[in-house]
Amino acid sequence: MSHRVAHTLQLTGPETSVAAPAPAPRKSAARPMTLMVAPKPAGVAEVRAAVHEALPGCDCVICPDIRQALEKAETLRHFGWLPAIFVLDYRGGHPGDLADSLRKVCGAEPDAELMVVLEDGDPTLWRAALQVVQTPEKLTFLMTPFYRPDAVASLKSLAKRYQATAERDDAAASGDHTIRGLETEVTALRARLEIAMHAAQHDPLTGILNRAGFVAELTSRLNRGRKRQTVLLLDLDRFKAVNDTLGHHAGDDLVRKICSAMAQLMPAGGVLARLGGDEFGIVIEDASDQGVHEFCTQLLRVCGQARRVAGHEVQVSASIGVAIQDESRSEVSIMRRADLALYAAKREGRNRYRRYDAALEKVTKRRLSIENGLELALRTGQFRMAYQPIVTAQHGTVLGFEALVRWDSPEHGPVSPAEFVPVAEETGMILDLGDWITRQAFKDARRWGGPYVSVNVSARQFLRQNVAERILRYAEEADLAPSRIQIELTETAIIEDVERAAHNLEVLRAAGMRVALDDFGTGYSSLTYLNQFAIDCIKIDKSFVDNVARDKQSAIIVASVTKLAASLGMGVVAEGVETDQQCAVLTAAGCGALQGFRFGRPMTPGEARAMLVAASGDGAMAKSGDPILLSR
Ligand code: C2E
Ligand code: CA
Ligand code: CA
Repeated sequence: MSHRVAHTLQLTGPETSVAAPAPAPRKSAARPMTLMVAPKPAGVAEVRAAVHEALPGCDCVICPDIRQALEKAETLRHFGWLPAIFVLDYRGGHPGDLADSLRKVCGAEPDAELMVVLEDGDPTLWRAALQVVQTPEKLTFLMTPFYRPDAVASLKSLAKRYQATAERDDAAASGDHTIRGLETEVTALRARLEIAMHAAQHDPLTGILNRAGFVAELTSRLNRGRKRQTVLLLDLDRFKAVNDTLGHHAGDDLVRKICSAMAQLMPAGGVLARLGGDEFGIVIEDASDQGVHEFCTQLLRVCGQARRVAGHEVQVSASIGVAIQDESRSEVSIMRRADLALYAAKREGRNRYRRYDAALEKVTKRRLSIENGLELALRTGQFRMAYQPIVTAQHGTVLGFEALVRWDSPEHGPVSPAEFVPVAEETGMILDLGDWITRQAFKDARRWGGPYVSVNVSARQFLRQNVAERILRYAEEADLAPSRIQIELTETAIIEDVERAAHNLEVLRAAGMRVALDDFGTGYSSLTYLNQFAIDCIKIDKSFVDNVARDKQSAIIVASVTKLAASLGMGVVAEGVETDQQCAVLTAAGCGALQGFRFGRPMTPGEARAMLVAASGDGAMAKSGDPILLSR
């Protein structure tokens, strides 16, 4: 027998002699012990340290697999030890292995308490565990990153619970179930309830209230009705990018840091809760308009501070939706209003707060009816494509056409793509709609000869599996040469998933297609950063073009961007050109290609063809096979 019997958890009771085998000890008098199953030895030390701290003077028996742990438990039982707690460290493990281990422990040691250490954000293991264990209150999860105070508190509760159950069982066994039996039963129940209540209402990562706890607190405040409650829902912008690029540990670390910074801003009587991954809920009482404004401004400031996580400087921003309690005093109503306001804040560009008001209700209604109408629109052919010419700055020669989708809704009339494309993005409809757009645009372009067609591919579409292969297939189906295709992407489509984007861009470029970066100047990234991706040209956003003729600064910015782009081998298209003056300034600044009402509005495929035919008469058209230059 191993000498590791010394690694025993001593909780209570008189000692039983080690030498004398005692097959059926009184449970509460036996020496409880902890058995730890750790297939991977990496995290053993930190868990053992937590056991030491929680249950001082003892260690735990560590086994590489469940079979050995159960054998050891069986042997030690004959010497007066009882396996009280099984700690299963299955970080990075296989759900099947965990389920199998739990099944075996429950079968062999039904009285033991179970603690499972898991990687946070791995619901497969978590679900596997819950499916196997009949009484889920027996299970305690400890999520990584390993936070020792949590582990210690949980181990203490488990030991207490085990002890209380053992006493109750003893009392029942000895026929002494009167007062003592009831008392211990009550203690055990209370301990279980306390743990369950706490776990049910708190977030294990930050220790603050979770969604259930938040709603319970809000409801009780609204019911008390003494003070006016204001709810703020706060969501971190682009948090997913942190998780994806730096990993979940970094994401968790950032959430904790932001959480504690926000906690310091909370006014008296305020409540802060973590409602989900990167979403927080706040309640404040009797706040004035000015008070709400100042509080939100401070929250936005602390959320937006640069922080060091996982060795990197990370900066995110936040969006906030604010709602004040209404006459109904219903928590559902106030949460819904705050949620609408939060969505509006995000739609309006993030990094801001937005209060709920009646106008928002109207906007939401329209949005909903657009959302509901999109699918029918696609099925019944309500969409059509329009094409806007892109011309050379020098001679006005048509280089290509940007494909722009149009929706003539029987219910709403013409709806702008600026309105319905984001809705389609949100619902996922953009995948089917985008497929339709791509195929239609390729078909139309096939008919007009020379110039290229430039298709907008939204972020969600571009992040889809095999998107590049899909686009290539559509080109083949339409019999359109890849050299006559340009894909327009926004920065978000690239930085949301850098690796996937880089791969897709390479595939498209290798096939001979061009890639344009749309709306340049409205995002965050610099040209030198974007240069690492395979991009052929940038489209300077209309907001810059609007100012170039009036404001010298804008003209200088455009000129320097164009120069930098050229030095990086990228061409420049200026969008939204409406006047001769803009045209002159942009040409002087070095833009190779121009697009805007000055040269043609979005038109039907027939009109586009007619434009080309007319142009071929006076030579203002790039003939099929001509090199298409986007920069000078
Ligand atoms: P965008 O990609 O930046 O498209 C350019 C927008 O500017 C188009 O608006 C175009 O009609 C407009 N425009 C072009 N020249 C001028 C001008 O001189 N003056 C003014 N005032 N506007 C000009 P549109 O067609 O309403 O599209 C709006 C946005 O909707 C597009 O912005 C794009 O983000 C999205 N969108 C449009 N069609 C599609 C599509 O087929 N797929 C995807 N994913 N998005 C699309
Ligand atoms: Ca575009
Ligand atoms: Ca654009």
